[in-house]
Amino acid sequence: MTKKEIDQYEIKRKEAILETLPERYYSADEVDGPKINAYALQFNAPTDCYRELLVSYMPIIPLLKKQVKLEEADYILYAHGYARCDDLSDLVCDNLRQLASLRKKGAEIIVLGKSANAKNILNGEISNITFVGDHYAEYLGKRFGFPEMKEQYVVYDDYLRQLNVWPVDGCNNRCGFCRRSYMYIRYESQKYTFIKNQLDWYQEHEPEKMKHISLRAENLTEYGIDLYGKPMLHRIITLIDSYEAVENITLDIGMCIGEITSEILDALCKSKKITEIGLNLETASNRLLKLIGKKHTCQHAIEIFSKLREANPKIAIESTVMIGLPTETISDMYRLVNLIHTVWPDYLHINYYIHSPRAALNKYPQLTESQKEYHLKIFLNLLTSKKPRHEYKFIELHPCIYLHHHFIWGKKRKSRKFIKMKMKLDELSKLNNDFPYLMPSRTVRIMFHKNATDKKYLVRWWRTI
Ligand code: SF4
Repeated sequence: MTKKEIDQYEIKRKEAILETLPERYYSADEVDGPKINAYALQFNAPTDCYRELLVSYMPIIPLLKKQVKLEEADYILYAHGYARCDDLSDLVCDNLRQLASLRKKGAEIIVLGKSANAKNILNGEISNITFVGDHYAEYLGKRFGFPEMKEQYVVYDDYLRQLNVWPVDGCNNRCGFCRRSYMYIRYESQKYTFIKNQLDWYQEHEPEKMKHISLRAENLTEYGIDLYGKPMLHRIITLIDSYEAVENITLDIGMCIGEITSEILDALCKSKKITEIGLNLETASNRLLKLIGKKHTCQHAIEIFSKLREANPKIAIESTVMIGLPTETISDMYRLVNLIHTVWPDYLHINYYIHSPRAALNKYPQLTESQKEYHLKIFLNLLTSKKPRHEYKFIELHPCIYLHHHFIWGKKRKSRKFIKMKMKLDELSKLNNDFPYLMPSRTVRIMFHKNATDKKYLVRWWRTI
């Protein structure tokens, strides 16, 4: 599947979630059983992460079929992507205040998933509100008489045609740039035997669905510490690898390089079914790595990349780097490009560091917007100055970089087209923040082929959903 197909899939998936909105909202006397309104939950669902949607949201769809109007509901369900890229806690708190003002007297608001982190910010400001951070399918199932509703950790995705395995959730690290430094997500591994039983079931009943296994988690390397006292990801890799029906395994979410133990590395190298793996370089000076709380050094990253390449020359390695970290210097840009030119990831995602006042890195002096732009410009110029090898597929610039990018690639003055686009984006952005009309994030992306030093190779598009 190409990146473009995956992108189209993203749109389809989000549309599918919106399609689960009921055709109409009933009056309270038309509905037997609990009088629930989940409009806010469903409307915000496209902003939530893939895991939350497949693990917790999909199982509760039966509960959402017959809903009552907001003003007649006894229970109002709410969720939000909350802090996937940016800290949207203020927006979530405003949404909840708004719901509290619209509900009928005595109605309870139930806040599900990561947005339950708003509890500490609201600090008792809203009455009759319940926060359920994790296992919300199970919680709602028990509360509203759907005992079969439970979180699913091995889930087949019909669109992507892959079997997702989530062996662990949460993370015990607190990297200074990560939302973990200011929010709580419960750390919890699933038992090895539980995962094995699920996979055995697929092997016996639907082996064709096992062709592609996507092994995923926010921090895979911590799998098993809570259950077995030490990281046990290698056992899961070896288990998945052992099924005949499995043809390829991808580890799509960037792994924590500093936590790859020799046993995990050994299992990764032994499995010839692994076709894609994410290894996040993040940045490339040991000083900055320490500052942001990463456990690896540049040397360590180089060793892991080269061992994997040596063991499995066909493996595609994806990596993420950040530009604009506090205290970052121009020399750090040179180091970053050098590191990339040493390890040559096949895919490179470039993120601007988005400063959140609640993140741990807030205590350091921040770069100004123009310093960040300048760092990005230097970085991109250096990066594309060497002719990259053919296997290097593309670089992806993440949200927020697009506008600057247009400037960087040779436009000294902002063109009329640029100004118009910016105005449109600003307008959409403003609209999107007006709950509940549109999701409060915009997706603006640009991709270009790494071989391209010439603008004609640029493939760019932007979309809003
Ligand atoms: S290891 Fe990953 S998930 Fe955990 S805090 Fe660091 S960046 Fe966040």
